[in-house]
Amino acid sequence: MHHQKLVSLLRRVMETPTAPFHEYHMAATIRELLAPLTHVTITEDAFGNLIACYRRGRKRPRLAFAAHLDHPGWVKKPGDAADTPEFLGGVPADRLEKCPVKWFGEFGMWDLPAFELTKDGLIRSRACDDLIGCVEIVALFHELERLNAEATCYGLFTRAEEVGFVGAVHLAKTWPLPDGVRFVSLETSAPRGGAELGKGPVIRVGDRMSVFDDEITAELLDAAAAEKITVQRALLDGGSCEATAMQLYGIRSAAMSVILGNYHNCTPEGGLDVEYVSLADVKGLIKLITTTVIQMASGGKGKTSAKAAMKRRLEERVRAHRVHDRAAKAAWKRSIG
Ligand SMILES: [Zn+2]
Repeated sequence: MHHQKLVSLLRRVMETPTAPFHEYHMAATIRELLAPLTHVTITEDAFGNLIACYRRGRKRPRLAFAAHLDHPGWVKKPGDAADTPEFLGGVPADRLEKCPVKWFGEFGMWDLPAFELTKDGLIRSRACDDLIGCVEIVALFHELERLNAEATCYGLFTRAEEVGFVGAVHLAKTWPLPDGVRFVSLETSAPRGGAELGKGPVIRVGDRMSVFDDEITAELLDAAAAEKITVQRALLDGGSCEATAMQLYGIRSAAMSVILGNYHNCTPEGGLDVEYVSLADVKGLIKLITTTVIQMASGGKGKTSAKAAMKRRLEERVRAHRVHDRAAKAAWKRSIG
């Protein structure tokens, strides 16, 4: 995707305020950014999760990429005349007062820059988690449209992830997508399992609670290898993601992430500040999901997959070592007379 185009998508999404349950501005922004794409339709489930679909031609859909629309933030307690603010999301209680709050009607976010791109390629924002994931899906659809890709795939934008996967659970219970479609969570995650910021997007083999679908994980790795996209393969067990929630309800799921600094705005020094990710990692992830969708639609790489290649090597070794096996059995027979 063209650099300036991606930056304008990032800016538009990240400047939109959001908080758990108060994702209406973000949902409107996503709809606006997808509206020009003629092959994309958007529906909404009863809870307000957005279900976008890119469809060109008659290829069967395999993947649904998902990101959540919210970020930890302040809300006004419903029905409370004094308008007492309440914090929703996983941030230690002793940090909450360490930054002033900017209010957007019924919800507030810490008063930090919405979007900055530094000279050394970092995206700094009050809410990288998970607006970066939302941008990645929007960018994927723009790329599929630009490439006239013959493919079908879904983008899921969920609500209220930060308070316990509320939107994802609703989606899982009412799973609206065709059989065979796998859920792929796109997240930002604290560095774990040897993964580092700036070293490429992470194909997340699991989170704190689960390991993820082996087949889809392998296909993502194969697509990265085929397109020479640098990726990291890691267990990011700093937290749980929506793929775990989906798997609890029987939806086969995989996950990807970009490494995040200052997870949930918490700095190593004990304060609050912007979160940050690497723009290059985000670009790598968009390229990888785009290429994966296109490869899968064209029937996949089949025999060139790393696992198929390993199976062939194992079969060759079995054949090549038969001669040793026969010789050893003959030697044993001779030795026992
Ligand atoms: Zn989060």
